[in-house]
Formats: sequence, structure tokens, C-alpha cells
Amino acid sequence: MSRARLIVMNSALGPLDYRVPQGMTVEPGSVVVAPLGPRQLVGVVWEPERLPAEEVGDNRLRNLIHVYDLPPIAAPLRRLVEWTADYYLAPLASVLRMALPSTGALEGARSITEYRATGHVPERLTPQRAQALERIGERQGLVSELAIIGGVSDGVIRGLVKAGAIEAIEVTIDDPFPVPDPDHDPPALEPAQADAAATLRDAVEARAFAPWLLDGVTGSGKTEVYFEAIAEAIRSDRQALVLLPEIALTEPFLKRFAARFGCDPVPWHSGLRQSQRRRAWRAIASGEARVVVGARSSLFLPYRDLGLIVVDEAHEASFKQEDGVQYHARDVAVMRAKLEEIPIVLASATPAIESRYMAEIGTYGEIKLPDRFGGARMPDMAALDMLQDPPPRGRWLAPALVQALEENLEAGEQSLLFLNRRGYAPLTLCRHCGYRFQCPNCTAWMVEHRFTRRLACHHCGHVMPAPHACPECKEEDSLVACGPGVERIADEVAALFPTARTAIVTSDTIWSPAKAAEFVARMEAGEIDIVIGTQLVTKGYHFPNLTLVGVVDADLGLSGGDLRAAERSFQQIRQVSGRAGRGDKHGRVLVQTHDPSARVIQALVSGDIEGFYEAETEARREAAMPPFGRLAAIIVSSEDQAEATETARVIGRAAPRHDNMAVFGPAPAPLAMLRGRHRLRLLVHANRAVPIQDIIRDWLGALQWPRGVRVSVDVDPYSFL
Ligand SMILES: [Zn+2]
Ligand SMILES: [Zn+2]
Repeated sequence: MSRARLIVMNSALGPLDYRVPQGMTVEPGSVVVAPLGPRQLVGVVWEPERLPAEEVGDNRLRNLIHVYDLPPIAAPLRRLVEWTADYYLAPLASVLRMALPSTGALEGARSITEYRATGHVPERLTPQRAQALERIGERQGLVSELAIIGGVSDGVIRGLVKAGAIEAIEVTIDDPFPVPDPDHDPPALEPAQADAAATLRDAVEARAFAPWLLDGVTGSGKTEVYFEAIAEAIRSDRQALVLLPEIALTEPFLKRFAARFGCDPVPWHSGLRQSQRRRAWRAIASGEARVVVGARSSLFLPYRDLGLIVVDEAHEASFKQEDGVQYHARDVAVMRAKLEEIPIVLASATPAIESRYMAEIGTYGEIKLPDRFGGARMPDMAALDMLQDPPPRGRWLAPALVQALEENLEAGEQSLLFLNRRGYAPLTLCRHCGYRFQCPNCTAWMVEHRFTRRLACHHCGHVMPAPHACPECKEEDSLVACGPGVERIADEVAALFPTARTAIVTSDTIWSPAKAAEFVARMEAGEIDIVIGTQLVTKGYHFPNLTLVGVVDADLGLSGGDLRAAERSFQQIRQVSGRAGRGDKHGRVLVQTHDPSARVIQALVSGDIEGFYEAETEARREAAMPPFGRLAAIIVSSEDQAEATETARVIGRAAPRHDNMAVFGPAPAPLAMLRGRHRLRLLVHANRAVPIQDIIRDWLGALQWPRGVRVSVDVDPYSFL
């Protein structure tokens, strides 16, 4: 090959051709360095016939500079990159970037210098230095990483190195990963589990595309079952990937994995240090990393010989990436399995309607685990009618729930209160003049966080100190909190049970795998009586002494009103209920609601799961909503409101007419302003057979808009804000 066509790592550029100099060999998938003007760019060699570009004469080609000593990106992954870019209307380079690490990892083996605190306190301890040392604690990393952790500049860290408070250490970053032992500690499976495990083992052995829905109630032992499929992949010298919806779940997963296989799998998530990321990437590409557990981005890594993909908690909406390339990791995972010709397991106690439907029509195989492991029963559920038996004024826990908490405390058992709302109160207003605190950048109220004494916007992260006086009428101490967040519930619990030991579990308190591990250890040691948490506590955890779950506001999720609102509420409450009574002790769940007759609440309390799914599925079918129809959202945003509105109108007017397709909008988005940008939405609704990507590509491709306007397309949207 004397010339090569590249996708370069710049999404503004199309495919580019280069000359391959004498003595250099490249093939499709080779990772190379190419010149671009005065700069150098990383690129990947692609099949020219799959990447149409303007032909450039041989004499005008520039030479490739370098080819990395790495295995080429394999054909199935190249096809996945193409499919993802095409399906989600994203630039190829943006998708391909997820398969490549930072340039540091592309280079050969070496050691690097990392830094950590020595414990020595410098003589000159400025507030910045003190803050940095406190936040860094026992963590280790590059100067730039420690600066981010410490919330200071690189200069402050370097100053601390000079002062002897932080020291340099050499780290070899290519230490091999241990190989999990498939026979380390196999569990004794119950008959239903053993059958399920055998089915999946056969699927791994068959080395063919096979999607499986592993549908089992919480506590039925799904993990043990898919671990047997992973064991089979290890035995046959292939790799396995387990996708988890949240980093916070990584730590409990690592523990269970290590107990079964004798060592940790290789983790991949945004919390890794650069050196860890580099080591993991290289081991994944060489095949040495046998089992990888990761967030959605691990889906695009260049596995040398993938034999199995597992998507755990496959119903989770957080598998949908909401910025950059807006892909759904569950759906892309199925496509990767198809291209790699391997089995994939979607595990869930509350499968998405989309997945259940695929099983129903026979596209996916279905494995059901109807019973809880070890004879444990599903918890008893009851609805508490908040109109009939309301809490006292200014409180949020109904008398029946308070009594249940008290009984649990006396019995020495643990309880969990679930409220999917971070902070102290969702809205703060002035009782004197009615002023409400709104985010200056978004159409959203500022949420009070009492621990940090700040008001924060949960959409853009804008924070301000909680003011003493009303900014409008200047009245002092006139601000009141409206409605509860988890912090407020924690206050109420503290007032009711002053001696109870409590913990708040939200993304504010559990922001790293280490924090999650700390929480798990305290729960297991019985150091916590009552947990108050958001959706972060609804999944993955297994605490045998947790016997009571209180759902503080079951109506909360339904207020959003999008097509999945009922399904999502159902899943969330069912998941959190699944935390109760996982050991020998029986569990119970109390659900606070203002509408006990709502279909979701009825289904939860009666346990009529099938009935609920059937009714929801039927409603979707009637409205031709996914999976029976297709949706795509077009979001237009700009700092300039007039520009955004005008562009959205132009797009709306140019909407193509097709049979079985309708375009709604433009209309101001529910979040009409986000991060200082005005937003409008259009929604495309079509029959399954309509090629909406092609239509939208042609439609938007023919239009132009001002530079400051951003137009993004969200195919199969999950958020309608
Ligand atoms: Zn006021
Ligand atoms: Zn905001």
C-alpha cells in the first residue's frame, strides 16, 4: 500500500489521503501520526472504498510520519465505529476517539513519575496548600491530576514538591494484570441458576452472535449465573467485558468478582489515573486483560479477542450518553456482539420494555430466574396514602413509616429511605416577597445543599453561597426551603431518632469507587442504621441486614411525563425494593404516595409485574412509540435567543414530508435555557421502517445556520428536557 486513507482525530476534518513512505507498512486499522499543516495528528488507516473522499494526485500527498507499534484496530471494531457514527449521526472521528487512548498510551513501555503526599507539613502553609494537601489525602497521580483533585494550580503542587510535602515516585506502568482463575471458587448453584449458566456457557462455546435477556428478580443470583459464562470465556482464552451503568457500582462488583475468580478484573472508567488508563488500554489491546469491567466507554476499546459481553442492570437510563456522541451503550453493545460474532447477556431485574419486546418476538433469547436465591422471599410491599395518613406539617415521613423505622432500629436491623433528589430542598424562596432562586444559566431552580452551605444548579453546576438576606427585598433570614431533598430527610430522621447512625448516599457523597467501598464496609460492619439515598442506592448492593425500605415520594418520577416516566418509576421503586430482605430476614417496603390507585403503585403493591408490562407495552404500541415506532430529537441552541429561534424555525419549515413520519415543533425545550444557551426542540416521530437517519442527514445537510448556533440530533432520545 503506497497510499493510505485516514480518519484523523479531528471531527471537523473529513478523510485525508497520505503517502506511505518507503520502509513503512500499514494496513487498515493501523494507528499512525500524520502531518497537517505545521501540526501532527493521530489517525487510523481505513479502507478507502468505505470512506469516499476527493481523489488527490500522488504528487500532492504528504508522507505519514510514524506508525505506532500496536495491533491495528480490528475490522469488527472499525465496522462498529462506522455503524455508530451512521446511526447516531456523529462524526467518525468522534466515535473513533473512544477507541483510542491519549497519545501517551500509544507509545511503548516505560515508567512514569507520579506524586503523592509525604505527610510532612511545609513551614509555609498557605490556605491553598492546606486545601490541596487535605483533598489529595493518600491519592497519587501526575502533577496535573493532583492539581485537579486539590482544586489548585499546577504551580501550587510543584511548590509542595519543593517544600517536601509531596514526593515523586517512579511507577512502572506495564505491570501485567493477574489472570482470573475460572475454577477459583465456583458457587453451588441452585437448579434454575445451573440451567441458566449451562445455556450461557454453551453460547460462549458456540462463538456466534446470540443476544440473551437474563431476567431475574433482585436477589435471584443473576451475577453468579453470568460469572459462569465469563469463566467459560476465560477457559477458552478469550476476553469478556462487563458493562455497568455507574462507576459507583464498580467497587462492590470487584469484590464479588475477586471472591469468585481470585483476583480483580481490569476496571475502565473516568476515575482512572492516566497511568492506569494507559496500562489498561494496552493490556486490552494485547489480550492480556482478560475480563474488563467498565462504564459505557469501555464498549469501544480494541479488545484483541472478545468472547462475551455482559450488560448488567441493562434497563438503566444512564447507559444513554447525553453529550458528545449521544449513543445508547446497551444498543451499541448488541451491535458490537453482532459484529464480533459473540454472545451478549443483558441482565436485569426490571428489563426495559424495548428488551422485553425483543425477547417476546424471539430476536433475543430469554432466561428467567423467578426466585430469590437461597429461598429468600420478595419483600412485602404496602402503599401509604399521604392524603389519608399524612406526616405532621413540615415533615415528610408518614406516621406508619416512622413507626416501621423505630421497630427496625429496636430490632437492630438496617433501613433505607429512598428519595431521588439530591441536596436539602429543591427550591428556596423568600417568605417575605416570594423571590425564588433561579440559576442564571438555566431554566432551573437553585437547589439548597446545607452541608456545603451553597445553592447549586443540578443542570450546569453553577453554585453560590447560601445568602443571608433576600437579594430582592433585602429581608434577613427570610429564606425558606420548599420540598424535601435527601439532606432534609436526614435532618428529619436525626430529629426523630437522635441516636440512630445515618448515612446519605448520593453522587455528592459517593463520587468515587473508593467512597463507595467505604460506604459498603460501614454498612457491612453494621455501623449504619438508616441510609438515606438517591437512585445510587437502588442497584447492585447486597446488605443482608437491610430489612426495611421506605420510598419517600413515589409520585416524583411520574411528574416528568415523558414516554418512559411510568416504566422508569416502576423500575426504580422495584429496584430499591429489591434491597430489602436479601438475607435470611424478611423484608418490607413502604411506598409513600398521593395516588395509591395509580397503575404503577397498584402493580408494585400487588406484584403484578406482567400486567404492568403488558399495559405499558400496549400503550406504546397504540401510540406507535418505541419500540413500535422511532423518535429522534433535534435540539437547537445558542447564546443568542433570536438566532436559536430563527434557526429552529428554518429547520422546521424545511422539514421533509414522508409517509409515516411526522415532525413536531420547534418548541422551547422544557429546559429552555441550559448553561447559558437558549434551547428549542423538534421531535421526529416515524414508523419503524422509515430511514430517519438518512432523512435527517439530507434535511439538515441542506441548511446553514449562524456560527453560534449548535444543532444536535438525539436518535432514540431518553431525555426530553
Ligand atoms: Zn424577599
Ligand atoms: Zn444552571
